[in-house]
Amino acid sequence: MRYSEMFLPTGRETPSDAEVISHQLMLRAGMIRKLTSGIYSYLPLGYRVIKKVEQIVREEMDRAGAQEVFMPAVQPAEIWMESGRWKMYGKELLRFKDRNNREFCIGPTHEEVITEIVRNEIQTYRQLPKNLYQIQTKFRDEIRPRFGVMRCREFGMKDAYSFDVDERGAEISYGKMFEAYTRIFSRCGLQFRPVEADTGSIGGSFSHEFLVTADSGEDGMVYCTSCDYAANLEKAEIDRPEKYEVEESELLPVEEVYTPDVRTIEEVCQFLDVTARDVVKTLIFVADDSPIAVLIRGDVEVNEIKLRNYLGCDSLELATDDIVFEVTSSPKGFAGGIGIKSDIIADYSLINMKNFVMGANKENYHVKNCNMERDFAVKDFADVRMIEETDTCPRCDSPIKFARGIEVGHVFKLGTKYSKAMKATFLDKDGKDKYMIMGCYGIGIGRTAAACIEQNHDNDGIIWPLSIAPYHVIITPVNINDEKIATVAEKLYADLEKRGVEVILDDRDERAGVKFKDADLIGIPLRITLGSKKLSEGKVEVKFRKSKDVDEVALYNVEDFIVKTVHEGLGER
Ligand code: ATP
Ligand code: MG
Repeated sequence: MRYSEMFLPTGRETPSDAEVISHQLMLRAGMIRKLTSGIYSYLPLGYRVIKKVEQIVREEMDRAGAQEVFMPAVQPAEIWMESGRWKMYGKELLRFKDRNNREFCIGPTHEEVITEIVRNEIQTYRQLPKNLYQIQTKFRDEIRPRFGVMRCREFGMKDAYSFDVDERGAEISYGKMFEAYTRIFSRCGLQFRPVEADTGSIGGSFSHEFLVTADSGEDGMVYCTSCDYAANLEKAEIDRPEKYEVEESELLPVEEVYTPDVRTIEEVCQFLDVTARDVVKTLIFVADDSPIAVLIRGDVEVNEIKLRNYLGCDSLELATDDIVFEVTSSPKGFAGGIGIKSDIIADYSLINMKNFVMGANKENYHVKNCNMERDFAVKDFADVRMIEETDTCPRCDSPIKFARGIEVGHVFKLGTKYSKAMKATFLDKDGKDKYMIMGCYGIGIGRTAAACIEQNHDNDGIIWPLSIAPYHVIITPVNINDEKIATVAEKLYADLEKRGVEVILDDRDERAGVKFKDADLIGIPLRITLGSKKLSEGKVEVKFRKSKDVDEVALYNVEDFIVKTVHEGLGER
């Protein structure tokens, strides 16, 4: 494409409302424009990248045996009522009515639609397994759209759904998707890690998120420095009770102390001259309408997602002041285990604590030398705390590390949640009707492109990997009014295009510096610079955007050199 004819509005200024680098660069490189909050248009350069990501996704999904379909964006409420999600999904679901007052939504995901299709068409085990996928626009009314297309409201997603006759089959389908995702994100030039993830309200199942490592990422992950354990912080397991050494020590008599207005752990530590490890925090939660007290050591935090999974409840919230008063007979800040009017769950961090400090369930009082069993009963012990970097790997006990990441993909074992709710059954070999075992697998297309920029940029702009670069090469004639340069540029442009290389010819009558800046900003992997001095020696310069290396190449050889470099960069497939 000739630069002079392109719709490519680049900018030098950093947009003030863009927090992360990928958002800034996508705007500056003329890839996207915002229409309204969380809703973006892709301009030609941006859309080329999107189509490249989609193409890689298609090739790998097809290779894994999945078949492409295309489902409607608009979905009737009825199927969402059948699955139970019309109520459960909340405000992210954009709902509306048609002229006949019938309720609809714009699909944030397509489990209901695909299950409705498959239950009508598949009757016997002979027709299974199947894996169907689409690349399609989703709408989620995100509470806080931000970071450009990384967390927006309307976005393109690849979503796939597998249907199997049994657990073993479902495992195989899951494994194939896991492998396909690994190939997809590798081909997109990303550094990523699959991590064990929370399954949210679906529960009981199994899932992995594919996190692209980036400091700007919204997700925290932990990974083992020795084995391959990696998990989202929300999910990371920690202590096994057998790890705690319980020492025999004398149990001292309980002592109530007057602690006026001393509420937080820091205040308690200061007032009583103890460390946070000597104090037990008592948090009151309401789990599906019932209050529950959670006890945990003072220096660590409760992981509410693990707690919710452990309790198996749908909703979990910190109790209001009124409920705290009901349960502890005191205002917030003085809760403890002794005499509390609710069940107690103790985190494993309490297992080896003796003679600890705790709230007295009495305004302005704490108690010293508390001991479990002797002073109060615990209903159960559980792993409900946030992992800390000083913990060790739950699998092999080696040191762990924390990192941040951007979730670009998610593979999920759904089990029979939707097939049961929507009666998607098949007749098995043994003549019995059974529920299909499902899996679902998503990839955010725009988010993947943005994540790639987060990992591949410098002060001058984007550094695309060849695989998803909008163009492979930009030809930059230093002076387009120089007839010799212009002739060579035109010929090279035509020849490279003929050989399947994607080329921009920067034919603008602009200073070389301006052209170089734009080429760097939009991140084209290879730049061929045509200047009169080098040309008179029969040479051109090829600059690699990533390494900044410049190769002098003989003019007669440059076409082959570029074709070879592009083919090698794209890899044999
Ligand atoms: P998140 O935790 O980031 O909200 P999610 O768990 O809601 O993601 P899924 O329902 O698993 O996401 O969707 C599959 C994929 O779609 C995600 O891995 C992500 O790449 C993409 N995605 C989800 N929400 C958005 C969004 N608001 N904007 C852009 N891409 C998104
Ligand atoms: Mg979400």
